[in-house]
Amino acid sequence: MPITPSSYHDVVIAGAGPVGLFLAAELRLAGCSVLVIEQAPDPDTAAKHAPFGLRGLSPATIETFDRRGLLAALERRAAAPVAAVASSVPARPGERRSGGHFAGIDLVLDHVDRARWHHRLPDAAVPIAVDLAGIEAVLLARALELGVTIRRGLAVSAVDDAGDHVRVRAGGGEVRAGWLVGCDGGRSVVRKAAGFGFTGTDPEFTGYFAEVTLTEPDRITPGQHDTAAGTLLYAPPGIVRMAVFDGGAHHRAGPITRDHIQAVLRRLSGADVIVSALGLATTWTDRACLASSYRRGRVLLAGDAAHIHSPLGGQGLNLGLGDASNLGWKLARVALGVAAPRLLDSYERERRPVAAQILDWSRAQVAIMRPSPGARALRAVVADLIATRDGATYVAERVWGVGLRYDLGDDHPLVGYSAPDLTLDDGTRLNDHLRDGRPVLLDGGDDAAVRREVAPYRDRVTCFAARADHPLGCGALLVRPDGIVAWASGEARGAAGLASALSRWVSGG
Ligand SMILES: Cc1cc2nc3c(=O)[nH]c(=O)nc-3n(C[C@H](O)[C@H](O)[C@H](O)COP(=O)(O)OP(=O)(O)OC[C@H]3O[C@@H](n4cnc5c(N)ncnc54)[C@H](O)[C@@H]3O)c2cc1C
Repeated sequence: MPITPSSYHDVVIAGAGPVGLFLAAELRLAGCSVLVIEQAPDPDTAAKHAPFGLRGLSPATIETFDRRGLLAALERRAAAPVAAVASSVPARPGERRSGGHFAGIDLVLDHVDRARWHHRLPDAAVPIAVDLAGIEAVLLARALELGVTIRRGLAVSAVDDAGDHVRVRAGGGEVRAGWLVGCDGGRSVVRKAAGFGFTGTDPEFTGYFAEVTLTEPDRITPGQHDTAAGTLLYAPPGIVRMAVFDGGAHHRAGPITRDHIQAVLRRLSGADVIVSALGLATTWTDRACLASSYRRGRVLLAGDAAHIHSPLGGQGLNLGLGDASNLGWKLARVALGVAAPRLLDSYERERRPVAAQILDWSRAQVAIMRPSPGARALRAVVADLIATRDGATYVAERVWGVGLRYDLGDDHPLVGYSAPDLTLDDGTRLNDHLRDGRPVLLDGGDDAAVRREVAPYRDRVTCFAARADHPLGCGALLVRPDGIVAWASGEARGAAGLASALSRWVSGG
């Protein structure tokens, strides 16, 4: 059934991938009417299940899910439950637990010195792996439970920003909305239709992920092989990951055939292996591009629609979910008329530099994967560095997103960081209080000045009197709906700065 011109929504989202679904739930939680338009009639595909669909979720993402009460559902789908990879659980003798990788160089979890991150609690989350099918199932259930409308089998084809609303064409029909967000992936139609620039660097390689049956699997040694043409990672009995430095020529160049995979595998392994059967196979490249802006009028971008890069290091989804978490509450306030549109400026200001950094992080990995003597030499140096405690901690900080700090114009050591999930003296955790997506003010027990400042905002801020025992000794804290510390008290600071933080992040002033 086509969508009808009479239907109006506060926000329309193009794309029901993980970013579109999470954003939809965030907007609905804040009270917006939300329509999601998805071109695929059926969300479930084999490529979204393990092993192809496995996605590493960073601590930043895990905390985001925890704040909305979604972590337990996600853990049930996790390849490795959170507790099993947390450092409090001893490794089996000889086991090296991985905390991610840089250009295929393993990051050993036990080498990471988490005590250096003073803005985080010692037992804060570490990464887990969950398949995309599981992530989408959890987010879909959440969105539907909150009352998001999802229309599948309709592709957004045109966008018209009329100034006071936006018209969206899809599947032969048209719908009007206050705002449109393109969460429609790397080849975003919304991005193109709304005239966003999208620039960056061309691909150097074609990446392959394939499920193969080999007649003589022993002819290839398991593990990573760096060769004169590219890299091969063989995980017996039948998973191969390959990168061939061909300028991305074979990505989407036609169907991926058994003969082609066999030829690539022979070239990279140097062995005359026979691929007797080919299961699932996909290709990708290391093309890295970033949208020139994240908002044009009433149209915004989030997730892969705003940034693409190689999947090396597993950061694209985490980056996109970070966009949705940052954007959801801000857009809801603007769409509902509670805050001025300038609140949305902080979305691009905070998120675009994060994407630019991650694009560079993925380019740096490609640079040491190139099949050249110089790149190989550099790779050996980087591997040595990652094997040290300093190196592993540095890489983990970047890959896990735990070093992310927004510049909110306040140099308190917690402000701008993801709020630590403090245990409070009433037995609750800070994250429990963020479930409903409202800002939270922990008033530190009994601070009259803090209470005075927050009084005009009590209808819009969850306030509670509790103390937390934190190494940084924070008394009172103001936490944005996305879990970012917007203000914190400190020695001889009293409530200074709280009024402007409330005005900025609660009123959008
Ligand atoms: C092999 C591989 C491994 C990866 N591993 C990781 C990892 O470990 N960790 C990580 O963080 N990231 C990883 N990524 C990246 C991650 O999968 C993506 O960044 C993430 O899926 C992007 O989510 P999204 O919702 O923005 O876009 P998508 O998942 O692409 O969803 C976009 C949705 O929009 C729909 N759509 C498209 N066009 C239209 C239209 N015109 N109208 C309506 N709907 C439309 C699509 O059907 C789709 O459902 C990996 C990627 C690959 C390829």
